[in-house]
Amino acid sequence: MTDTSRITHWIGGQAVTGSSGRTAPVFNPATGAVTGEVLLAEPADVDAAVRSAAAAFGAWSQESLAARGKVLFAFRNLLAENAQLLAEAITDEHGKVLADAQGEVQRGLEVAEFACGVPQLVKGEFSAQVSAGVDAFSFREPLGVVAGITPFNFPAMVPLWMHPIAIATGNTFVLKPSERDPSASLILARLWQRAGLPDGVFNVVQGDKTAVDAILGHPEIAAVSFVGSTPVARYVHEHATRSGKRVQALGGAKNHAVVLPDADLDYSADHLVAAAYGSAGERCMAVSVAVAVGPAADPLVDALARKAKAVRVGPGRDPEAEMGPLVTDTARARIAGFIGGVQQSGATVVVDGRGITVPGCEQGFFLGPTLIDHVGTDADVYTQELFGPVLVVVRVDSLDEAIAVINANPYGNGTAIFTESGDAARKFERGVHVGMIGVNVPIPTPMAYYSFGGWKDSMFGDHHMHGPEGVRFYTRAKAVTQRWHGGAQQAASYNFPTAN
Ligand code: NAD
Repeated sequence: MTDTSRITHWIGGQAVTGSSGRTAPVFNPATGAVTGEVLLAEPADVDAAVRSAAAAFGAWSQESLAARGKVLFAFRNLLAENAQLLAEAITDEHGKVLADAQGEVQRGLEVAEFACGVPQLVKGEFSAQVSAGVDAFSFREPLGVVAGITPFNFPAMVPLWMHPIAIATGNTFVLKPSERDPSASLILARLWQRAGLPDGVFNVVQGDKTAVDAILGHPEIAAVSFVGSTPVARYVHEHATRSGKRVQALGGAKNHAVVLPDADLDYSADHLVAAAYGSAGERCMAVSVAVAVGPAADPLVDALARKAKAVRVGPGRDPEAEMGPLVTDTARARIAGFIGGVQQSGATVVVDGRGITVPGCEQGFFLGPTLIDHVGTDADVYTQELFGPVLVVVRVDSLDEAIAVINANPYGNGTAIFTESGDAARKFERGVHVGMIGVNVPIPTPMAYYSFGGWKDSMFGDHHMHGPEGVRFYTRAKAVTQRWHGGAQQAASYNFPTAN
């Protein structure tokens, strides 16, 4: 291993190596080279980060809204100025193409913009004269130290769903990023510091399951936001709630896009291909199942096959590339294994991405776009979340059948319908058991000022992320009933009042 960088924790406003001797390699997925080694925290490192955050909480939570807003505005501007630096770090460790990494930073920046409105977001309610001389009001306060545990596929955006809102509302934050692409988290930590955020308000502990378990059991952490695969989301939800924390845990997905016979098939195929193979399918909102209804199926599969073969696969730094490699060779091999097992299920591999070579990147973790037709809902490629550039086609006879297929699937993150019929779209919107729905929009990710979250096995907990639900998640309500003695006097009573 030569020329590798050491990726540290960030605690109390500085890079820290901590107590652990354990590390994990970080790869450039386009070349297969090891480019860094990330420290893996022990419980003592998590404890140091939590203590730093707890020490900063008192002063930060008492800062005026104006002062907090000022830091948020400065952070937003620094994010915009450093978007390219951040995007390059994402591309070099995740593998996604640079334009997509820039889009990821933009979507995260929009959450920071939303959080700049903190004075408006935490406004309470007031009722004068609820009884003679009595007023009532409510307001929301921060929780304390909160933690975020995030996945590899959006190393900047997903943490940005969390920490700008948590910090704006007066909490202090401990981030445990994915160990596969940890560098973006340190860039963000330095931007917070340059924005004037007091040391200790934002901390990063690099690590794996050891760090996660230390977070879940730490008595001084009030709440945990998690995004990742369903088994880990379920585990995080169970363990963190057991130790009394507030939890939002977003899990995996299998997103279906229904194409009705009246849809513009060329438009639908264009959008399905982009939504299935963009970011090599490593998006929780990627379309992984096309549900072709009746006569839409044959022409749709023809168009999908043509367009899938035309996707330009290359390293993320190549401006011509539309799709990069997978994050690790293990991920590539796992997904290739699923494609290899398809024949037994009776399905047909129409476009096979295995065996692709990218000149100059022969050791990269590439897998080409793959299209599989006539897939049954009992096939492994349907029941498992592959999280790669594989689009499977399930053929059904009617919209009712399409809705039934979606509702029988354990996941409920996103879904879309392609149609020219308002009636069909409305029936779909109201009928599916899914959190985020697109109508002729393949990836219906809500804007920062709405909230993001799935249903069923795609989310455990009550609050979706960012937007109004994010503000509620990171705050708790106080309701005050007050009487001043200059107002009407009322005799004390041993009973609940029956008059006003
Ligand atoms: P992952 O579940 O493997 O890891 C997520 C986080 O949990 C990481 O920080 C990791 O270090 C930690 N972790 C991993 N295994 C653990 C274990 N056994 N115990 C405790 N902690 C553990 O997920 P990933 O591979 O990094 O990301 C891809 C997954 O995330 C996909 O399933 C994808 O659908 C999902 N995802 C969901 C959303 C959403 O909004 N619902 C968004 C992005 C990604």
